[in-house]
Amino acid sequence: MSEKIHVRSRIVEMDGDEMTRVMWALVKEKLLLPYLEMDTEYYDLGLQHRDETGDRVTVDAALAIKKHGVGVKCATITPDAGRVGEYKLKKQWKSPNGTIRAILDGTVFRTPIMVKNVPPVVKNWKKPITIGRHAYGDVYKNREMSVEGPGKAELVFTPAGGGKQTRGLVHEFEGPGVLQGVHNTDASIRSFARSCFIHGWEKKKDVWFGAKDTISKTYDARFKEVFEEEYREHWKARFEEAGLEYFFTLIDDLVARVLRSEGGFLWACKNYDGDVMSDMLGAAYGSLAMITSVLVSPEGCHEYEASHGTVQRHYYKHLKGEETSTNSMALIFAWTGALKKRGELDGTPGVVDFCERLERAAVGTIESGVMTGDLVRVAAPEPAAKQVNTVQFVDAVRDALENGS
Ligand code: NAP
Ligand code: MG
Repeated sequence: MSEKIHVRSRIVEMDGDEMTRVMWALVKEKLLLPYLEMDTEYYDLGLQHRDETGDRVTVDAALAIKKHGVGVKCATITPDAGRVGEYKLKKQWKSPNGTIRAILDGTVFRTPIMVKNVPPVVKNWKKPITIGRHAYGDVYKNREMSVEGPGKAELVFTPAGGGKQTRGLVHEFEGPGVLQGVHNTDASIRSFARSCFIHGWEKKKDVWFGAKDTISKTYDARFKEVFEEEYREHWKARFEEAGLEYFFTLIDDLVARVLRSEGGFLWACKNYDGDVMSDMLGAAYGSLAMITSVLVSPEGCHEYEASHGTVQRHYYKHLKGEETSTNSMALIFAWTGALKKRGELDGTPGVVDFCERLERAAVGTIESGVMTGDLVRVAAPEPAAKQVNTVQFVDAVRDALENGS
């Protein structure tokens, strides 16, 4: 590969913290910049710089993704009280991912990277299952209280600007208990549905959705209705033409079907289901470092990242000069995801082709037995696993890329 491949339009690049910041630089230096001529719009979301800019940099980065359409993000620290002291922060800044998601109003899709020698725990899963989690409302924006003794709990809605109140009895308490109010909005459910259909269609995956509409005849039923409406009006024709389907069933039936399936579909999950099921899938597919993540907005903006955090424990070892064996797969795939999307939008197949070769080189490296410690623990006996350090893994991928087709 003598001539560099030109990436025509800009990608929004968001740098981050700790071990992932170290690997970010490595991946760029060894796997991207030698082969690509690219001009990114760089935002430093490292905690120190977020603090210096009063977190303005995070908002600017999110607005830039809106403008350019494609971003790639390194993992970042969401500060807790301990980090405020460690970094002498002016404030306990909010989660950058939360800020970006609020501006783009997107849905996060997580997909495992599968390699032959790290088989999923569920043996019939032959293809990756993508989870799309609705990231608004339900129990995450609830109002809850304890009830001390007998009394009547009611649900009351007061229309803005006057009009008749609607009331409904929740429960006549005869003794102490607990009570919770949750909500969602049609607008948010619709954007969620739209993002799921966009992503399913782009990735050529069926979309599966489950809710408890037999029990929750208004709340969960609304999710089902909105999905059906969105599908019928905007996607049915396109899906059918591409040989894809949208499939709805009760959530319990769906979970059973997921387990028996061979994978390969997009599972649209309500907020709580997505929270629980994405952790289950992460564990079932082997390692956190093998799960990619993309935020898709209803307008079609895409932001790619690894789904793990900054791998703090490894970073502290690295700072002490000790050897680390940290897996850069999800970071590599965040970059290839963003670059492939850029290539598709720009109509530059050379960029897409390079990314596919890099992905094959990365997967091939692990399949040849060369891997980081997290995978050694879960790899199949054959071929024998050879543990390498953080840098050696990136070097091995580069060798495979140089020698590959
Ligand atoms: P983490 O960074 O995801 O790491 C948790 C553990 O998972 C690690 O200690 C390591 O296990 C394993 N692991 C994760 N990624 C790995 C990789 N690439 N290679 C090998 N092993 C890997 O979570 P955390 O340590 O709880 O969080 C650290 C920071 O990340 C926090 O400040 C949090 O705010 C932030 N965070 C950011 C994001 C994001 O930006 N998207 C997401 C989550 C968390 P072993 O120690 O057993 O080797
Ligand atoms: Mg969870």
